[in-house]
Amino acid sequence: MRVCGKLTSTGEVVTLTLERNKITHIHNGALPADIGDSSVWLSAGFNDIQLNGYGGEDFNLDAWGSAAEVGHNLPLLFEKVAKSGTALLCPTLTTNSAEAICQALRNLSELLNAERTFANRVVGIHVEGPYISEEDGPRGAHPLEHVRNPDWEEFQRFQEAAEGRIRILTLAPELPNALPFIEKVVESGVVIALGHTGADVSVIRDAVHAGATLATHLGNGAHSLIRRHPNYIWEQLAHDSLYASLISDGHHLPASVLKSMTRAKGAERTVFVSDAVALGGLPAGVYMGGRYEVLPTGKIVLAGTPYLAGAGHLLDTCLANALAMTDLTLAQITASASANPARVLGLEGTRGHIRVGYSADLTLFKLPIEEGTPLKIEATLCAGEVIYRAKATSVEPREK
Ligand SMILES: [Zn+2]
Repeated sequence: MRVCGKLTSTGEVVTLTLERNKITHIHNGALPADIGDSSVWLSAGFNDIQLNGYGGEDFNLDAWGSAAEVGHNLPLLFEKVAKSGTALLCPTLTTNSAEAICQALRNLSELLNAERTFANRVVGIHVEGPYISEEDGPRGAHPLEHVRNPDWEEFQRFQEAAEGRIRILTLAPELPNALPFIEKVVESGVVIALGHTGADVSVIRDAVHAGATLATHLGNGAHSLIRRHPNYIWEQLAHDSLYASLISDGHHLPASVLKSMTRAKGAERTVFVSDAVALGGLPAGVYMGGRYEVLPTGKIVLAGTPYLAGAGHLLDTCLANALAMTDLTLAQITASASANPARVLGLEGTRGHIRVGYSADLTLFKLPIEEGTPLKIEATLCAGEVIYRAKATSVEPREK
C-alpha cells in the first residue's frame, strides 16, 4: 500500500510504502497512492494515553451508575475513536471497587486476545486511581468510597486481570507508603504518573526521585484554591524529568494556562490527551437521571453547575485547540500526540515516528478552516491497517 502526504515534521511531501504492518520505504515527492495526496498533512498516528470512553461507550464498568445511556461495546468504542485520527491509545480505567476494575480489565483483555486489530492499537492500559487523594478538588470526580491507599498485592491482581498490559498508573504520592510503592511499580516496567494529588512540593520531589515520569492532566484534579507558590503545580512544571499530559479540550485549561504550561514543559515534554468519557460526543442534553449535562459546546458538567464532570472531545478537537491556543508549531503539536507519548511508554524505537522499519501508524488530516472546529481527519492507520477513512465528499453545488 502507498500513502502520500505532507509530513507535519518538515512540510515535505512524501510517499510511503507500507508492507504488512511496517513502513518499508519513504519516497521524497508525490506518487500515485492508495491513500492521501500532496494536499493532506501526514503525521505519525495520534496516540491518546488517557481515554476512558466516548460516544456512549465506556472502558469502565458502572462508572456512571447503572444508567441506560452508557454501554460497554468496546469494538464500537474503538471504531468511534479511530474517526478522530487516534491510531493508538491507552484505555483508561478510573477509581472503582477492585471487582469492577478487575472485571473491566478482563473484558478488555478478552477482546485484545481475540482481535489483533484492537490489540495493535492498545499501547498499554492506564489505571488512574484508586490510589489518589480523598480531598475534594484533587479527587476530582472519582468516587470517594473507592479511594484507597497504595496496595501492591491489589495492583498485582489488576496486572494479572490485564495480562500484564497495564503500562501507566496514576497515583497521589502523599499517600502512606506511596514512595516505596512507586519504586516497585516502576521496577516492574510501569510508568508512574502523578495526579489527583495535593502533595507538598517535597513529596513531589521525592516521587520524581522514586521514578515518577509523568504528571497526569496537570492543572486539573487539583484544589480550586492553593498557595500561590510554592505548590504542586509549579513543582511538576519545573521538573525536567516529568512529562505533563494536558487536556486541551478548551474547557479544562484556559488558553493562557495551556500556553504557559506548554512553554514551561517545552515541546519535548508535552503530551496532549483527551481524557474523554462516555458522555463525550453525545447530543446536548441531560443524562443519568438528571445528574450530568452535555452542553451544546460539548462541555460535560454536573447538571445545573459550572463544574466539569469529564472531558467530551477527542484529539482531533484537542490538537486543533492546541494549535490555536499555544505557540507550538504543527510539527510540535503532532509530535506531542505521537512521538512524545511513545517516549513516555518506552516505545520510541518502534512507534511514534514516520521512519523506515517503524510500525505504520499514521494519521492524515486537513487543518480546520474555522477556529474552534476539529482537524478534518482523512484517514487513520494502525500497524498498516486502515482503521478509518473519510468518505469522499461529493462536490454538489451548494443551495443558495
Ligand atoms: Zn483524572
